[in-house]
Amino acid sequence: MAETLVEIRDLVKEFPVRGGILQRQVATVRAVDGVNLDITKGETLGLVGESGCGKTTLGRMLTRLLEPTSGTIRFEGEDITHLSGNELKPFRRRVQIIFQDPYGSLDPRSQVGSAIAEGLRLHGIGDKDERQEQVKEMLELVGLRASHASRYPHEFSGGQRQRIGIARALILKPDLVVADEPVSALDVSVQAQVLNLLTELQSELSLTLLFVAHNLAVVEHISDRVAVMYLGRVVELTDRDTLYRHPLHPYTEALLSAIPIADPDRPRDRRILQGEIPSPLNPPPGCHFHPRCPIARQGLCDVQDPHLMESPQGPHHQAACWLRAGDLAIAPA
Ligand code: SF4
Repeated sequence: MAETLVEIRDLVKEFPVRGGILQRQVATVRAVDGVNLDITKGETLGLVGESGCGKTTLGRMLTRLLEPTSGTIRFEGEDITHLSGNELKPFRRRVQIIFQDPYGSLDPRSQVGSAIAEGLRLHGIGDKDERQEQVKEMLELVGLRASHASRYPHEFSGGQRQRIGIARALILKPDLVVADEPVSALDVSVQAQVLNLLTELQSELSLTLLFVAHNLAVVEHISDRVAVMYLGRVVELTDRDTLYRHPLHPYTEALLSAIPIADPDRPRDRRILQGEIPSPLNPPPGCHFHPRCPIARQGLCDVQDPHLMESPQGPHHQAACWLRAGDLAIAPA
């Protein structure tokens, strides 16, 4: 049976909203709102949703770059939710992050080799020569040349810089990598190369990957399972093929219908969502999606808040929708 690497339970992250001359707290925004999620060893879990849905905040809590407000994160069974200082060091070595903007995370005055070796230095791994050797190997593994170690970040293209970001994340041989929108700042022509590289490295190094993206098209080929987030919550979770062929949640259907199809003769059912994503400062009552949902049922959806429920069509497929999962479910049209 597949082993669970990460167990997230009832995870919440709130941020204070400040206002006035004294910058007093005037409200609280709940960016992540009670997420439950398991990540299995060796899998790639895609985490998808519109900007502001809480996916990046969730990824950062998982890497402990952000402190959760409540809930728990277990890593190989150990509760790491509130570890601090030196207690966090072994965990930091095992969990790494790839940022959306690799240029922003690289010091323009520092040679690329030194930036990649930083993690090794911080964790006291190897002497200078050994670290240099590891950096060269890592540069080649991500499709760059060993000689690139002595160059500076501005000498590289966007795609090459993201390869450097990947090398930095992998140099410590982590068990889990959170890839936070790693291709969204890249040209479309380069995106596929970086995605292919991540897929190859994931299988070669037996990595577990949480791949965060705002677009379902991006995660389709890389993910084993996909979790869709809306307004701080996971609203659908299943394996990749089931999600793309038989989505349950109307929000997932809308995201899927927005994926461009290369064949102009192929009919498509574009479902354009009405309205803006509501403010997480003041989420709608009942199902948070109901003001935009084309099948919302008055008296139910605007009153009662759905939790993740099993699909009537099979196990391992969950959706937070009264009409598509759980006891009241009716099959999608
Ligand atoms: Fe739409 Fe109701 Fe399902 Fe929410 S619970 S997604 S409003 S049908």
